[in-house]
Amino acid sequence: MRLLLIEDDDRIAGPLSEGLGRYGFTVDHVRTGSAGLTERAAAPDLVLLDLGLPDMDGLDVCRSLRARSAVPIIMITARGEEADRIVGLELGADDYLAKPFGVRELIARIRAVTRRAGAPAFTPAGSAGTLETPEPQRPSSGARKLGPLTINRRTREVHLDGRHIALTPREFDLLAFLAEDPGTVWSRQQIMDTVWDPHFFGPTKTLDAHVAALRRKLGDPAWITTARGVGFRLTVPGGPVVSEVTG
Ligand code: CA
Repeated sequence: MRLLLIEDDDRIAGPLSEGLGRYGFTVDHVRTGSAGLTERAAAPDLVLLDLGLPDMDGLDVCRSLRARSAVPIIMITARGEEADRIVGLELGADDYLAKPFGVRELIARIRAVTRRAGAPAFTPAGSAGTLETPEPQRPSSGARKLGPLTINRRTREVHLDGRHIALTPREFDLLAFLAEDPGTVWSRQQIMDTVWDPHFFGPTKTLDAHVAALRRKLGDPAWITTARGVGFRLTVPGGPVVSEVTG
């Protein structure tokens, strides 16, 4: 899937292109509205449009894009641009995301928008090996059961052997993310991108601290194993027993 990213801020465009690339998207990046409108690259499947551009009002870019094509448009807005969002939606943008946002959130919006637009169901290419495996979609109302561990995304509750485990919101997000595909090794960067934010820069010590806390709270370090030099994976101590429980 080919995305056209119209964004003048390289501090946002860089990590965003990289993050989307890891999930199998091809990203064409331009820094001005006029470049976005004259883009001669293959017609994009979707446009990510920053509203605060140096040369044109992003809303005018949106209007021009919409006048010439039905391509899905997701606006990227700064805080305090509520009025612009409404105008943008009236001008034909399909959705918006307020900065800052995570790659995972963006991908969820892309999926929703392309579904609505009647495009073929999007499957990330997941280019190279198991590290690139995209998250599988799960029923959002369901609880996930891994051996004695139950993770309920709807209520954000975790039980181990029927006993409630109190987690911080970030610990829950990390555990729920790893539990989506037990046995899969996720790279540190992939975890930071999805559980934290693609704009996260600096040491990833916070990830180690959260892994340590989860191991402690789950009472067995074997739940989360370290893939040296790569990242982490979740495994059920004593063998994987995975099933879906609805409700
Ligand atoms: Ca901008």
